Amino acid sequence: MIIQRVVLNSRPGKNGVPVAENFRLEQSTIADTVQAGQVHVKTLYLSVDPYMRCRMNEDTGSDYLRPWQLSEVADGGGIGVVEESKHDNLAKGDFVTSFTWPWQTLAILDGNLVQKLVPQLVNGRLSYFLGAAGITGLTALLGIREKGHVAAGANQTMVVSGAAGACGSLAGQIGRLEGCSRVVGIAGTDEKCSVLVQEMGFDAAINYKKGDVAKQLRELCPGGVDVYFDNVGGDISDTVISQMNQNSHIILCGQISQYNKDVPYPPPLPPDIEKIQKERNITRERFLVLNYMDKQEASVLQLCQWIQEGKLKVRETVVEGLANIGAAFQSMMNGGNIGKQIVSVSK
Ligand code: NAP
Repeated sequence: MIIQRVVLNSRPGKNGVPVAENFRLEQSTIADTVQAGQVHVKTLYLSVDPYMRCRMNEDTGSDYLRPWQLSEVADGGGIGVVEESKHDNLAKGDFVTSFTWPWQTLAILDGNLVQKLVPQLVNGRLSYFLGAAGITGLTALLGIREKGHVAAGANQTMVVSGAAGACGSLAGQIGRLEGCSRVVGIAGTDEKCSVLVQEMGFDAAINYKKGDVAKQLRELCPGGVDVYFDNVGGDISDTVISQMNQNSHIILCGQISQYNKDVPYPPPLPPDIEKIQKERNITRERFLVLNYMDKQEASVLQLCQWIQEGKLKVRETVVEGLANIGAAFQSMMNGGNIGKQIVSVSK
């Protein structure tokens, strides 16, 4: 059977910035027959995520990420529909997902390695299972619950960096739902800041590419910062940390400004910021959502409930066509997406 697939064409290198040309679309074939225990699936949606930058290099810089191999098909979060099943628990027409979905139009997968989806849980918006009701939403929710020390009624102020991205846009909203009294986002365009405040209920948002971030933060968080959901690291995080309160908490979600740089993870803080962190007893523990998968089922149900109730507003940037996945990746690299970046493969 003939398929289209996307392979890694070249590596960006340790300090290189990934570009669309690092990927290549090509024609290939898969077996015509499905073996016992397997399913034949048609790909519907693929997720494009920042952690994939690390998988593009031979040394991923991480103990839990496998590198993609040159001229081999890339993979990541994906959703598809079963076209033929020889697995006892899956039938034609079922929607299924996997963290290791191959970037190809059709595939034969081990039925034990996919999870069946219930579209009604997300009002039929299947792609949400890659974002708000998937690993992105889990990251925001479990990051806050495991590392944020948010307590209803405690009058806490939360700041979110990378706030208009997939995790950040959910984290601010979840921070509020969990009890923070004030939520301020930091993002890279006026449009993003406007979406955060107008659509997602952030109290305020700072465009870090304009004006003095430290001054705006002081004005917008007069009582200091109690919880910092950190997606980006670097200068922005140094500025936020210097305004954090005694016994406050950093949720170390990601350090996107430091990826594809030859630095350890998590990157060390500059000495003056580290001094503040220690003196003020600010927690900054590594957080990895995959370590909390025992809480996945209950947490996904919580996220779906908020989505159904309209309490969690979801934004997606959807790019059409497998051929455009490299461009989608590059756009994500440039901060082009609001909310979750999805590639729709069926059309
Ligand atoms: P995303 O949708 O691409 O959002 C990232 C945001 O960061 C973008 O909105 C981007 O836009 C901003 N950004 C990019 N480069 C920046 C820079 N140099 N300085 C400041 N801001 C920058 O990504 P995501 O899926 O939300 O992921 C966010 C972070 O969470 C990543 O670091 C990712 O690796 C991490 N993550 C961690 C876990 C975990 O288990 N810990 C799980 C999933 C994801 P603007 O610059 O325009 O604001």
